[in-house]
Amino acid sequence: MHVRKQGISSRLVHSGSFDEEFGSAVTPIYQTSTFGFRNAQEGADRFAGEDPGFIYTRMGNPTVAAFEGCMCDLEAGQTAVATSSGMAAVTVACLALLKQGDHVVSTASVYGPSRTLIESHLSRFGVTSTFVDTSDPEQIASAMGQRTRLVYVETPSNPMMQVTDIEAAAGIAHEQGALLVVDSTFASPYLQNPLVLGADVVLHSVTKFINGHADVVGGVLVAANAQVGRKLRNMMSISGCCMDPHQAFLVHRGIKTLGLRIERSQTIAMEIARWLEARSEVAWVRYIGLPSHPQHELARRQMRGFGSMISFELKGGVEAGRHLMDRVKLATLAVSLGGVETLIEHPASMTHAGLSRDERIAAGITDGLVRYSVGIEDACDLLEDLRQALESAD
Ligand SMILES: *Cc1c(COP(=O)(O)O)cnc(C)c1O
Repeated sequence: MHVRKQGISSRLVHSGSFDEEFGSAVTPIYQTSTFGFRNAQEGADRFAGEDPGFIYTRMGNPTVAAFEGCMCDLEAGQTAVATSSGMAAVTVACLALLKQGDHVVSTASVYGPSRTLIESHLSRFGVTSTFVDTSDPEQIASAMGQRTRLVYVETPSNPMMQVTDIEAAAGIAHEQGALLVVDSTFASPYLQNPLVLGADVVLHSVTKFINGHADVVGGVLVAANAQVGRKLRNMMSISGCCMDPHQAFLVHRGIKTLGLRIERSQTIAMEIARWLEARSEVAWVRYIGLPSHPQHELARRQMRGFGSMISFELKGGVEAGRHLMDRVKLATLAVSLGGVETLIEHPASMTHAGLSRDERIAAGITDGLVRYSVGIEDACDLLEDLRQALESAD
């Protein structure tokens, strides 16, 4: 019998909920480090993998498993592994899938700490890497070598919102026998599903859109096949990068409203991006939803919406950008993104200060670039906030 798969909003609300002994509507917080066995045989069976019961919270926990089940469903994967942070997810993916002598091809403008991990730390263990503009598939293809085992792409990327063609990247990676890992944090499962487009692993910093309330740090990996999933789960457990049950409870609560939050914030983002484009103080605006974005058409095919991240540069450069950030009152001057509150930040002196100026310019991060993460406030209030900040002379 053909069973129609429910729509994404229904799945956001219902996926991964446990049918509890007491019929609780929400999976409780199993605040326990360990799980008792009824007898020695049951303990042995659990360790042998013949009994699916829980053993120890670093290896697995019912509250965490409920969130993992939800992510597996949303990303159409076989195995989901929740982690203590987004960077823990990046670390687990790299440690699980790479060995000495392997080569990684990645996005030049990838999240700063991800690049530092690969370039400065994995290199100590004999892993080499090449960073290219992955929005151009030919640059991925020409960076591939005999020893390339991992293509690690971030799309959309931060803060220039470059969009990489996931299907094309998967084709190039697989032709060389490499795996494709996609950091899909900026899209969330509501806007794109990399595994459906051929990626082997999708990862998220749950800290951002998935939790959405700026009160938890977390991460998750979802694998398209169970064999890769087992490697990720083993490495999560061995490295101790586990998500805690209270964290899992909060992010599972947050994800239920992901659709509502994204629908609202992307509608406001479109309005703000158009408004900024028309302002005389603004040199340029980068928003995936604007036809002026270089991969606007690709994003239309690959994503279900354009999200709520805007980057722009003021004609007055870095001084004007700093002035704006000091004058806004409703937007919070802070790093991070994807929450209910609007955030503004300066990549060159904050999130991307770890790169050299040349590396920043190569990634399109000019000194005056301002990054704006649209929340769910009233559009008129956000526009008024930006207007008064742009026009204040002092
Ligand atoms: C924030 C972020 C990360 C790291 O996540 P943490 O939860 O801060 O560890 C990784 N990738 C992207 C794209 C991010 O925005």
